[in-house]
Amino acid sequence: MATPKTFTIRTFGCQMNEHDSERLAGMFVAEGMTPVDSETEADLVIFNTCTIRENADLKLYSALGHVKALKESNPEMQVAVGGCMAQKDRGKIQEVAGWVDVVFGTHNINQAPELLRRAKFEGPLMEIWEAPDPQAAVEMAPALYAVRELPYSAWMTIQTGCDNSCAYCIVPSVRGAEISRPLEDLLTEARMLAEAGVTELTVLGQNVNSYGRDITGRSPLFPELLRSLGEVDGLERIRFTSPHPKDLSSETIRAMAETPAVCNQLHLPLQSGSDRVLTAMRRGYHVDRYRRILDEARSIIPDLCVTTDLIVGFPGETDEEFEETLKVVADCNFDLAYTFIFSPREGTRAALMSDDFIPDELVAERFKRLKQVLDRSALLHHEARVGLIEEVLVEGPSRRNDQMISGRTRQGKLIHFPVTQTPMRAGALVNVKVTHGAPYHLLGEEVAFIRGPKHKTRIPLNIS
Ligand code: SF4
Repeated sequence: MATPKTFTIRTFGCQMNEHDSERLAGMFVAEGMTPVDSETEADLVIFNTCTIRENADLKLYSALGHVKALKESNPEMQVAVGGCMAQKDRGKIQEVAGWVDVVFGTHNINQAPELLRRAKFEGPLMEIWEAPDPQAAVEMAPALYAVRELPYSAWMTIQTGCDNSCAYCIVPSVRGAEISRPLEDLLTEARMLAEAGVTELTVLGQNVNSYGRDITGRSPLFPELLRSLGEVDGLERIRFTSPHPKDLSSETIRAMAETPAVCNQLHLPLQSGSDRVLTAMRRGYHVDRYRRILDEARSIIPDLCVTTDLIVGFPGETDEEFEETLKVVADCNFDLAYTFIFSPREGTRAALMSDDFIPDELVAERFKRLKQVLDRSALLHHEARVGLIEEVLVEGPSRRNDQMISGRTRQGKLIHFPVTQTPMRAGALVNVKVTHGAPYHLLGEEVAFIRGPKHKTRIPLNIS
């Protein structure tokens, strides 16, 4: 059988999965393979799956049905399934889709190339570990060789797993307990990225605040990590997601405020404004505590952008409890919120609360009301920025209008401004004056060019 030469990875789910796919791509490129965009051109198709989103299993099995036909016309092709769905469904995947060559779990990413090599001779294989290799540093090492999507901006996973047990969440059972990568490894990776021209680094973890607690046996090391990353030459913007409100310490808030490279942006998932619902969700904090943390962060970090996550229709949520959420959301005055309608995930506590599920029509109505409050505060935040000068990291031409450039402010807000010079390259830094605020973006005009991109690979933006 010929050695596969091309590969493609289809990623479902969150930034952690996106970054896992970058690590997988790094390993296959190191094996001499070439990434391609479409499954029809690929000798190897990998599905990096997620269980968080609704109908995740339907999406996976329908995608697998599509590659079955491709594999029938090209028997040399290999198909692999990894990620959270692989960890959860295990043997079921190859029972349902017998043409899948390899199934690998969330702790077995490093073994994917070897499993695929063996599968050519041994037939379909599955490798699922319940926990990471005791040497977690070894497990994460390929992050150094990840093929990153953007040369000026990178993700870096600092921990795997989660020690919490939120009632609606499948992550702890598919990703296992928290394991932190050693601080020195992270700094080595960050320095390497900065030397390659990365100027924006987003630190990833299920609960970044507790980073390092497993290493020290006591206090988390997250504030130290932020301060140390702030000293890496070349890193100009450091972001992180997600912190857990119960673990966001004063030390972390001070480290954010005192480290110039750390952006004035905080994603702090509230989930509900009702103490009873928060308890049922097993979130580990009440509204008062959340408000105190937010007040402290806003009082210390100037011009802080705050975003959140909210779940509507958690089992048993009453009209009064939903009204409490509306009130807290209005008081907290978020810049943006990601809103989700509760849907049960098999294997979670909340999935067993079926007697208390809320009727769809009622949830839809609550969702609409919540969106109205959130859209209003998002718009007010953006309108308040009109006239300000924002430092913008250029991403490229606007998707809707190639005469406009899109980029992100230090607060992480999307901004579009007209092309004034060509080429304006992705990764460049410019000052832009805000001229208009819409709920989900800003408009502006360039007032000063600060610097071009620092990475070596030139990415022309194709603007005539
Ligand atoms: S903190 Fe809660 S919601 Fe987040 S990954 Fe852990 S269990 Fe899931």
